[in-house]
Amino acid sequence: MPVIHFNGISKRFGDNVVIREFEAEVPDQEFLVLLGPSGCGKSTMLRMIAGLTDITSGELRLDGELVNEKTPKQRNVAFVFQSYALYPHMSVRANIAFPLVMDRFRWWHHIPFVNGFVKRAIMRDPQVAAKVAEVAEMLELTDYLDRRPRALSGGQRQRVAVARALVREPSIYLLDEPLSNLDAKLRTQMRAEISALYQRVGKSFVYVTHDQVEAMTMGTKIIVLNGGVVQQYGTPKEIYDRPANTFVARFIGSPA
Ligand code: ADP
Ligand code: MG
Repeated sequence: MPVIHFNGISKRFGDNVVIREFEAEVPDQEFLVLLGPSGCGKSTMLRMIAGLTDITSGELRLDGELVNEKTPKQRNVAFVFQSYALYPHMSVRANIAFPLVMDRFRWWHHIPFVNGFVKRAIMRDPQVAAKVAEVAEMLELTDYLDRRPRALSGGQRQRVAVARALVREPSIYLLDEPLSNLDAKLRTQMRAEISALYQRVGKSFVYVTHDQVEAMTMGTKIIVLNGGVVQQYGTPKEIYDRPANTFVARFIGSPA
């Protein structure tokens, strides 16, 4: 059973067709890259998977389940965005634990979440504390748990954002150009770290980028998009060796 099944997915904003008849079946535990130039519809696609924007027509199945009408929380997904969106007033520990604490204290949603509250909630719940410790260890953040985000480097902050996505143990991770704000050296390092993480957690990833190198080095499968239309879906090697058309050949920079 495919973990993601895009069945004729289309998206319109008013008269503007942003995604046209998107078809793909993605097997479990792939690192799927959505690759294409700026404005081609990558983020929109990811937001539809996350449930952050509705699907105009077609059916989307995650783990075999039709999710068109499901809220983000009802889907087994976690996402990391380009901007880190960490809570500046909370420690790294509280930032990482936040999704778990929110899950457990659902009925307290109206209470403003202060650092102290999250901290107490973590200390009271050994499962939350253990999960935060495990994820922090994995991402080499153990020494920074008591700091505030502003006291971290760009790469560390990005790792906190990834850690926060990891605590919930979803079956699908969604990442929208998570490295585009980092400098070239850090980007190369973080690529390797995210690939290592993918190997370790054994889950499915959907990774949005406009960077061919990132797509070719990280992806196990790539969907090349242009103007909201799928140009090709295949492994990096298939796409490089046999680009479906001149757009793909040019964009990938393959010799064909
Ligand atoms: P990418 O992530 O590949 O750069 P996007 O998915 O952000 O592309 O955008 C694809 C197209 O959809 C663009 O033309 C963009 O202007 C349009 N678009 C995205 N979000 C909205 C929105 N909320 N309302 C109207 N148009 C939008
Ligand atoms: Mg985008």
